[in-house]
Amino acid sequence: MSIHEETSSNRTEDRVVGPRSRKALEQLKPYSPGKPIWEVQRELGLEHVVKLASNENPLGPSPKAIAAIQAALPDIHRYPDAQAAALRETLADALELSPCQLIITNGGDELITLLSETFLEPGDEIVVSSPTFSEYEFGACLMDARLVSVPLSPGYRYDADALLAAVTDKTKLVWLCSPNNPTGTYMPRKELERLLLGLPPQAMVVCDAAYSHFATAEDYSDGLEFVRAGLPLVVLQTFSKAYGLAGIRVGFGAAPEAVIRRILQVKEPFNVNALAQAAASAAVGDIDHLKASCDVNAKGREQLYAAFSRLGLEYAVSMSNFVLVELGEEAKRRYEALMAQGVITRYGDVWGLPQHIRVSVGTEEENAFFIECLTRVLEETK
Ligand SMILES: *Cc1c(COP(=O)(O)O)cnc(C)c1O
Repeated sequence: MSIHEETSSNRTEDRVVGPRSRKALEQLKPYSPGKPIWEVQRELGLEHVVKLASNENPLGPSPKAIAAIQAALPDIHRYPDAQAAALRETLADALELSPCQLIITNGGDELITLLSETFLEPGDEIVVSSPTFSEYEFGACLMDARLVSVPLSPGYRYDADALLAAVTDKTKLVWLCSPNNPTGTYMPRKELERLLLGLPPQAMVVCDAAYSHFATAEDYSDGLEFVRAGLPLVVLQTFSKAYGLAGIRVGFGAAPEAVIRRILQVKEPFNVNALAQAAASAAVGDIDHLKASCDVNAKGREQLYAAFSRLGLEYAVSMSNFVLVELGEEAKRRYEALMAQGVITRYGDVWGLPQHIRVSVGTEEENAFFIECLTRVLEETK
């Protein structure tokens, strides 16, 4: 490449101050997070801003988690427990697993990176459904592996056979986000079992169950039953959603011990800070907060569905804490108009859905404010 040619990651002025970044990084797409409340307040000069863009818990964290963080503060001059032993014990008890079947990570996102680092050689393949969470692709890019994308069926339904058909002898990981971000749809237990049993031995399912607590369908499975049964899969969980601890960064993986041992090889010793470990342990014990969070969410989903029906908008029935709704040709303008009124949602173009937005379920008041603004916006952008 001549010195005058530029790529986004290796601009000329960047290159003269140090080594080039790895070739594989040229494929990386930056993650686009939901806009923070303060940014919208500042940019648009708004007082009242409601954020329904990142699937956070509208009730906030468990009071028990806050108390645990406060109790742990005097000891933060000490390194955290590298094994997160107490948290693993607590989780193992709650989930009927052995602590050896668990790895604690700096959010579920870190587990996605660790899995990619553990299993993907350059040229290996991952299989994902599309649209889905973008971090699986990020992990594959990071390791110079190939993304194989299988479109969801109509109604955003998962198709185990289509996923199996996309598997080759290079496939290492099959990422299954269930309930799926951004569609809220899920893979029923029977199909998941068929997928697990149908894979060749060099390939493994990662069941991303970040939103499992919100799933109310009878035939939903978070995958943990299959870990208990000894099947080779990884179940990803997070404390960021139902537990309301997104800001402190903690998640975990559950898998057979032999799989966990391989992932531990690439884990940094102190990946999960002491406050996060304390908060997560306390949150697991706060069943009431978890239940309240799920109840508010189930009611909030119904509140949104009723409004969408009234407004004549198509939406996907969600097993999660967000709803994907179709706003038509004017979707981008409508998304921006919502923002201007103080409601932050997520625009669907990042998932190839330029006529949709994804809205997180908030408190009853937040949902009502969103519905009020949406009603006005639809009226103004006819
Ligand atoms: C939020 C989320 C995660 C994990 O998020 P962390 O905050 O890193 O724990 C994982 N998968 C999906 C699909 C998510 O939406």
